[in-house]
Amino acid sequence: MLEDLIRTWDGEEVVVGYDEPSGTWMFVCIHSTRLGPAGGGTRMKPYAEPSDALRDAMNLSEAMTLKMAAAGIPFGGGKAVIAVPELPSGDERRRILLRYADLASSLGTTFHTGPDVNTSTSDMDLIAERHPHVYCRSEANGGSGDPGPYTARGVYHGLRASVRHAFGSDRLDDRVVLVQGVGDVGAPLAELVASDGARVLVADVDGDRAAALAVRIGAEVLAPESAIGLECDVYAPCALGGTLNAESIPRLRCRVVAGSANNQLHEREDSDRLRDAGILYAPDFVINAGGVLYAWGTESLRWDLDTVETRLAGIGETLAEIFARADAEGLGTDAAAEQLARARSS
Ligand code: NAD
Repeated sequence: MLEDLIRTWDGEEVVVGYDEPSGTWMFVCIHSTRLGPAGGGTRMKPYAEPSDALRDAMNLSEAMTLKMAAAGIPFGGGKAVIAVPELPSGDERRRILLRYADLASSLGTTFHTGPDVNTSTSDMDLIAERHPHVYCRSEANGGSGDPGPYTARGVYHGLRASVRHAFGSDRLDDRVVLVQGVGDVGAPLAELVASDGARVLVADVDGDRAAALAVRIGAEVLAPESAIGLECDVYAPCALGGTLNAESIPRLRCRVVAGSANNQLHEREDSDRLRDAGILYAPDFVINAGGVLYAWGTESLRWDLDTVETRLAGIGETLAEIFARADAEGLGTDAAAEQLARARSS
């Protein structure tokens, strides 16, 4: 199965590691280095099968190629997945991360990484002990720190551009926004839209986290399992990917989908399903580029924070261009975004 996936992939390179004592698989997938070194996060997660982890790394890596190109950052796309039997802590976590760092550094300057699901700025400090190309180390260690608030700001600009396209105005004070997953990105996003006067609904499998945020910003808490079918203007998926699929799309009761999760569409056809349902979809790899713009911008491209903010606002402008292209050519917004990314990278 692993062999089949690698043989049929259109990316450039896959590096595989296996840590015998813990039973951990490690996959570094380099999708493209055409625009520059491959950039992408390091995800740590249990998977049912190693092939599921490899497939995830490949899909996420391809999305990074599109994300970098659409955002106008001179990097290619890559992604690493550390497929652990269960999330490790303490010395075992350190040992696995250092082993992974050796694997990443065996690629020389090809792979530049940062945090992703279940990896943090302190994990980046550790990986940087062995691999020099690491973003978002803690600020105490000279890194740019947590990218979450910047990703949230980029999503906020993208969400407003989407609302403008769907409703003719980007005012949020008479809109209902449902944020699914209120972690590093979802929580600051919920706060931003609440401060613009939106009615905010939040859902998280961590009920305490959702409740604490709701009290702080004046939001309402929903049960996570029923959230997706609730009536709202904007659904912002900010947990894990794959929530937009043949089963869930008919249940959506929103006009706009605009959130941070990576790989929100389960399959390519879901973009058309959304369009046919009259729902405007802000392609994930465009709207969630804020963290990369911040980290790669400040650490590699010497941008100051004013430049970062201008580029975050640019996410809204890029989405407006994508929506116009999709309307003019009768395309799903995902296909229009891919066209734009490919044009920007050629
Ligand atoms: P996080 O782990 O900090 O937060 C995710 C939240 O979602 C958690 O509170 C978790 O309890 C909740 N959750 C998980 N499953 C859920 C479910 N089924 N229903 C409701 N809530 C659920 O992650 P994050 O950094 O905020 O990232 C969120 C998403 O955005 C991820 O898909 C990530 O890949 C993507 N993303 C994040 C960044 C970033 O800068 N952090 C950048 C780009 C994309």
